[in-house]
Amino acid sequence: MTDGETRAIRGRLLTFLRAPEGASDSASYRYIDDGIVLVKDGRIEAAAPAAELMSRLPASIPVDRHADALILPGFIDTHIHFPQTQVIASYGAQLLEWLEKYTFVEEQRFADPAHAARIAEFFLDELTRNGTTTALAYCSAHPDSADALFTAAGPRRMGIIAGNAIMNRNGPAALLEPARDAIAASRQLIGLWHGKGRLRYAVTPRFAITSTGEQLAAAGALLEEFPSVLMQTHLAENHEEIAAVGRLFPGDPSYTAVYARFGLLGPRSLLGHCIHLDDTEIALLADSRSVAVFCPTSNLFIGSGLFNYQRLAKAGVRIALATDVGGGTSYSMLRTAAEAYKVMQLQSQTLPALVAFDLMTRGNAAALGLDGEIGAIAAGRFADLVVLDARATPAMAHRMEVARGLEDELFVLMTMGDDRAVRQTYIAGRPALPA
Ligand SMILES: [Zn+2]
Repeated sequence: MTDGETRAIRGRLLTFLRAPEGASDSASYRYIDDGIVLVKDGRIEAAAPAAELMSRLPASIPVDRHADALILPGFIDTHIHFPQTQVIASYGAQLLEWLEKYTFVEEQRFADPAHAARIAEFFLDELTRNGTTTALAYCSAHPDSADALFTAAGPRRMGIIAGNAIMNRNGPAALLEPARDAIAASRQLIGLWHGKGRLRYAVTPRFAITSTGEQLAAAGALLEEFPSVLMQTHLAENHEEIAAVGRLFPGDPSYTAVYARFGLLGPRSLLGHCIHLDDTEIALLADSRSVAVFCPTSNLFIGSGLFNYQRLAKAGVRIALATDVGGGTSYSMLRTAAEAYKVMQLQSQTLPALVAFDLMTRGNAAALGLDGEIGAIAAGRFADLVVLDARATPAMAHRMEVARGLEDELFVLMTMGDDRAVRQTYIAGRPALPA
């Protein structure tokens, strides 16, 4: 990106250096009370106290001032479904019924490229309004749906990673039909989009129930063929789902073992949910450096169960955080963090605000293998930023009257905040919301 654009963004800067250990680990982050992010050609050229940088800035450079707001790296959503923007808030079903009754019906509409194009614009607008600047997204079974999303993301210069959902059984014929040559279609989409600007591809078998072993093996081979492509799927979300996988793959000792056998585990693999796992399965995830993706609003809404964060973390499993819209109920990573906190509280665990904000930024970037590109306010990274206002609503402003320091402010933001707390979102250095 060499658009020659230069801009200075001034406010309170917060960026994480490593995963925080506990609720007040001040060595895990860098906070500048009055800082400037200097942006050039879409990337961060420098981030430093205003007192240091102001004197070096040419007078012609525009300065965006966000005096009382917090500027963080843009949020990263590691599991979201682009064709489910109108599935969100679908009533009264658990996973398998929810898929059949709502999701598979809705996804068939993506056979129409005009529909896919319209939804892609809405989807990216909504991410932006919520301060999310990178997402790992599922498309529908139609390769055209991935084309639609990548086509819409390109001019916005967003770091979108996506793949069309691969499935060849246990779904409606209309979704299995376009998936017949799903592997060939995925290979073609990789050629067209992977590494084009900021776009990347993820091989996307929906889950073990909707793919034969043959198709999962082909997906694994594709992952091996393209060593920078990611993989996303679902794992151990719901008891009926796990029982069905047991019936479909009777020779495998567990659900996780099915993915392991077909080469689908590894450091580039992000597995949504990971709720109901035994110790052997957790060890498979940890040893393979796979990522377990915590989707709290979805797990509560679909009634799937409670993600056991501490158990997985102690076993050395890499963990990411995500909305899982439309099983999830909010595009906001702030709301997602709030529900993650509650899911953990129900298990007598806790989620410090520092850990939550690290997860939404640096942690999720690392989960995607993109921590050299995004997730931090540091020279060389893309200038993807979110500007947050902890006094965005009367109730938040009222609570902030008694806030005690940065950690408390962050906790107010994640407990009470949503899109209303997002004052601006910068994508590759450009403000993406109306000022
Ligand atoms: Zn999902």
